[in-house]
Amino acid sequence: NNEVNLMERIKMKSEDLFKDAKNYLPGGVDSPVRAIKPYPFFALKGEGPRLFDVDGNSYLDYCLAYGPLVLGHSYPPVMEAVGQQLLRGSAYGVPTEAEVNLAREVVKRVPCAEMVRFVNSGTEATMSAIRLARAVTGKKKIIKFEGAYHGAHDYVLVKSGSGAVGLPDSPGVPEETTRNTVLVPFNDEEAITNLVEQEKDEIAAIILEPVMGNVGCIPPQKGFLEFLRKITSENDIILIFDEVITGFRIASGGAQEYFGVTPDLVTMGKILGGGFPMGAFAGKRELMERIAPQGDVYQAGTFNGNPISITAGMETLKNLDKDYYRESESKGLQMRRGLGDILEDAALEYQVAGLSSMFQIYFTPTKVWDYAQAKTADVEKFNTYFRTLLANEVFIPPSQFECCFISAAHTPNDIELTLEAMEKGIKAAEK
Ligand code: PLP
Repeated sequence: NNEVNLMERIKMKSEDLFKDAKNYLPGGVDSPVRAIKPYPFFALKGEGPRLFDVDGNSYLDYCLAYGPLVLGHSYPPVMEAVGQQLLRGSAYGVPTEAEVNLAREVVKRVPCAEMVRFVNSGTEATMSAIRLARAVTGKKKIIKFEGAYHGAHDYVLVKSGSGAVGLPDSPGVPEETTRNTVLVPFNDEEAITNLVEQEKDEIAAIILEPVMGNVGCIPPQKGFLEFLRKITSENDIILIFDEVITGFRIASGGAQEYFGVTPDLVTMGKILGGGFPMGAFAGKRELMERIAPQGDVYQAGTFNGNPISITAGMETLKNLDKDYYRESESKGLQMRRGLGDILEDAALEYQVAGLSSMFQIYFTPTKVWDYAQAKTADVEKFNTYFRTLLANEVFIPPSQFECCFISAAHTPNDIELTLEAMEKGIKAAEK
């Protein structure tokens, strides 16, 4: 009897913690997407492909902290390197050899990167890259794609991705701030051509996720990135690839290597910090030389180039070799083909999206090439699918408009188990 009571109490732990959390943290969480209904599970630990909660459950994890954990949870070499670094201190306020080494590694891998500035988040990276683009062009406007998420700062918080769907303009963001942020649909060459024709003397930059990862997963149509490269070069507009998700994920040099199109600036984060807070922006030397103290464009941070994050990032990149990218392609294919087969067997015309280690199902018969098409998906069906997965020990991001990730720690067998759960989830959604 005691044992039963104990079990019941244990099952309640996440629920109780959430009640308590709501007293101290707005919405009980520190980032909106985490407020899973009716209550989120609270993490105890992560190991390889699995996340364990405080109630004694474990989940095959395809959220992976929204992307950074490309090698899975607690990857031993990363944890050991960080442990060693911790013994030598956690922050110095002076430069380290390690940050020079990581910058060199970024330059080696990423085609557009000739110089790098390390910051603390993807948000800081895009904020700074936009400032730099405005400074070098002397222009103010930026073009952003509907549904693209570039972090939580004011300039880009307009129709931005999953977290802000339904709240396209947050209160507290002055209209003056977003007046210079112009929106266009992704993959729409005509809209961009018209806009650039009319406003080229005012447009400083086009910023994009080369594969949109914050409205599910939308790849660029063939030729779209090349088109953006051409029109920006011809009109003194800086092309910024936001590779916070795609960087080091879909290829060693990110989307710019994968698609063979080199932007002027790139923003990075997530994987680059190996599971610790990190962001960076990088680009052509003549642009990056404008960053202070070499140049006049201000950017600074107490924790910029933090030795813990730098160490974790370096150790992570060491493990992202040719084998990793090959296996990542094959596991991604296994997942997307498996999902395609399940949908075909059930005679459902939903969309399986993604590339490399990124994937998602859209619960819509509409082909998805932009935000408006993504929004035709049936969110209720997705929610049932999500909850069924959770009950079957599979955790994916809790929104139709996020992207799922596969890590190096997931085995083909894990993916088979996941597909079984997904079949149940898709059937449950159709009931
Ligand atoms: N850019 C993209 C493409 C992202 O997906 C994200 C975060 O999800 C960001 C920028 C913001 O990064 P961070 O959450 O580290 O501030």
